[in-house]
Amino acid sequence: MIISSKTRVLTLLGDPVSHSLSPTIQNEAFRKAGVDGVYVAVRCAADDLFGFMRGLSRAGGGGNITLPHKEKAAAVVDVPSEAVRRTGACNTFWGGPDGKVHGDNTDVDGFRRAARAFVGSLRNMRVLLLGAGGAARATLMALLEEEAHEVVLLNRSTERARAVARRIGGAHARVVPLAEELRGQSFDLVVNATRLGLDPNDPPPFDFELLTRVGAAMDLVYGRHATPFVRAAEDYSIRATDGSEVLVQQGAASFERWWGGVAPVAEMREALRRSRGE
Ligand code: NDP
Repeated sequence: MIISSKTRVLTLLGDPVSHSLSPTIQNEAFRKAGVDGVYVAVRCAADDLFGFMRGLSRAGGGGNITLPHKEKAAAVVDVPSEAVRRTGACNTFWGGPDGKVHGDNTDVDGFRRAARAFVGSLRNMRVLLLGAGGAARATLMALLEEEAHEVVLLNRSTERARAVARRIGGAHARVVPLAEELRGQSFDLVVNATRLGLDPNDPPPFDFELLTRVGAAMDLVYGRHATPFVRAAEDYSIRATDGSEVLVQQGAASFERWWGGVAPVAEMREALRRSRGE
């Protein structure tokens, strides 16, 4: 790839960013697609977010936003997508020909695409969603758009879960304050959107022993080894997957916002595998 004065600059803005695999995945996608762009990670303080997003967008670039700035970024964009408006979070931005900062939350599409690939249709499913942070909001929006029948939210802070259900959930989301209340129930899908598992020594975020039947389990957390949630599900012979495919698919959706067309997903997946030494 030749970097020239015309090369478009896409950046990952967050703090920390040094662990991120997005530069590897995106630069491989740019190479495969033959687009003239470069993707770099930039550690960015909250106070600098506005300047970076505006400056890069005006220069025809854009990028991704990661922890802890996704909510702040939603307030910076001039033209928010429906996903940004509903979730209150932005993870993808780019400058439009109108000179404005456009923003989307591709965690919604990322989850939707990965879930479709893993379980097929989400229509009429009964889903247990663990967590109430940014990832849980994106997941809830995708589940409802895909016409899940009911989504039960369980989070350490019940109030936070109630606020998420009110904001996004409508009639199809319900909050339970205690895991014990789920004893004996069945779910087609259980999703972990808490951060438990980021540290491989974390305890599993849920005790599957409580439930009578679980169709499948999806973790948003990913790592080099099976996450505690995936291990816990597999102990009960539940089909389970970690967040790697969500990562690839949200990156693919971001690629498509920046460049149009379809992202080279197979190469992105392969780049992720290689960077993890698999
Ligand atoms: P947030 O900080 O917004 O939310 C964290 C969530 O984890 C909250 O629900 C919080 O509960 C819960 N939590 C934190 N610590 C504990 C604990 N000790 N016990 C129980 N619950 C806990 O983070 P995000 O929503 O942005 O991200 C959540 C996870 O999803 C992260 O691991 C992130 O890496 C992953 N993710 C993966 C993506 C992918 O592409 N695969 C995309 C986006 C996120 P409380 O509200 O009570 O504090």
